[in-house]
Parts: sequence; structure tokens; C-alpha cells
Amino acid sequence: MILILLGPPGGGKGTQAVKLFEKYGLIQISTGDILRSEIKKGSGLGKEANQYVSKGLLVPDDIMIRIIEKRIADDDCKNGFILDGFPRTIPQAKALDELLEKLAKKIDKVISMIVSENFLIERLTGRRLCSKCGAGYHIKYSPPKVQGKCDTCGGELIQREDDKEETIKKRFSVYQDQTTPLIEYYQKKSILREVNGEGDVESVYRLIVSIIEE
Ligand code: AMP
Repeated sequence: MILILLGPPGGGKGTQAVKLFEKYGLIQISTGDILRSEIKKGSGLGKEANQYVSKGLLVPDDIMIRIIEKRIADDDCKNGFILDGFPRTIPQAKALDELLEKLAKKIDKVISMIVSENFLIERLTGRRLCSKCGAGYHIKYSPPKVQGKCDTCGGELIQREDDKEETIKKRFSVYQDQTTPLIEYYQKKSILREVNGEGDVESVYRLIVSIIEE
């Protein structure tokens, strides 16, 4: 099964992808995670990508398409995967169709998570990550036991550079301009399903599972 989770940054795609991995064993491919890991390593790709990521802008399509082409050819993707954060533009969607056609595969469903800008600002400005192990927290919804410290490894909790309010607004407008055209693109292929992404994690998850099992 190949699924695409579509939705604004911070709309909960990553959280849902982890839960879907637990249920269906579908590998989560998060282009944001891939880029952050390259940025952390300080690789050539990371340095180039960071010029865009840190400003909330999209990394150029050719770079992203190369990353995805390489990743979906990996052995662990043989039985399907969930794309979280890709495609984000029409050229990326078209390139994905071509890549999958070559592999004799197709997208089963595209799940579009609908979340408003105000909801996102509250969710994202409170988000914190452990600088050591990457565990996720939220200062209001899932705070650590000790302020600023990771429950699991004691690492320092940090805020992603692109989770600052100004950058969130930029990322949301980039999403509206460049990614929402994908809704129509996939609607025309009759594989798009919409869910209200503003519920709690469990209720959004149940909606997604019911769509997958339609
Ligand atoms: P995310 O964690 O999915 O919100 O991604 C973080 C940042 O990585 C985005 O704001 C973009 O700068 C970059 N990025 C991730 N995926 C893509 C993509 N498919 N196309 C272009 N840029 C991307």
C-alpha cells in the first residue's frame, strides 16, 4: 500500500504516520526528517537545503525528487510506504507518478488533513524536540516531567528554527500557494480523501484508519 499524507506543516502528518506504521508496518518517509538529518550532519545537501528550510521555504523540486527516487528504491519500501511531506508541489507529484510507474506501483490513497492557520500556530509554537534523541513534546499538550529536559534521555529540549511564529506563517502561506493545488490534482484521480485534522490524535487516527479500510 502506498499512502500520501497531505496537510499543512504541523498538521499532525508525522504523528499519524508513526501510528500507521505501528498498525500496518508501512514505512514512514518524511522528507522533512531526511533534510533535518542532512542538516545536522552538515553534508553538502544539508547545507544547501538549510538555506530554504530555515526560512520556511520549499527546497527546489529537483533536489527533493532525487531524494525520493533514492529512498523509495530501498528494500524496506518494497511492501509499501507512507509519504509525509512529499509531494509538496505539482512538479513533485508528477515526478512521483513517473517514478512509481517505472516501479509498476501506484498510489492507493491521498489523505488530506484539514487544519486552520490559528490552530497550527498554537500547536507549533509549543512544540519541542529533544536535541539528543529527537523525542517530541508540546509545552501544553504533552509537557516533559522536568521543564526543558527530555523524559527519556535527559537531553535538552529545543525549538525547531522553523517552528517560530513568523516562520510558521510563512510555511502556511507556502502550503496554501504551492501545496493545496495537489488537492485538486489527486481529486481528479479519485484517490483523495479529506479528514478534519483538528481533533485529538486518536480521533484523527480513527478517521484515517476507516478511510484506509474503506
Ligand atoms: P516538514 O518537517 O515536512 O514540515 O519539512 C520541513 C521543511 O523541509 C519544509 O518547510 C521545507 O523547507 C523542507 N521540505 C520538506 N519536504 C519538502 C518537499 N517535499 N519539498 C520541498 N521542501 C521540503
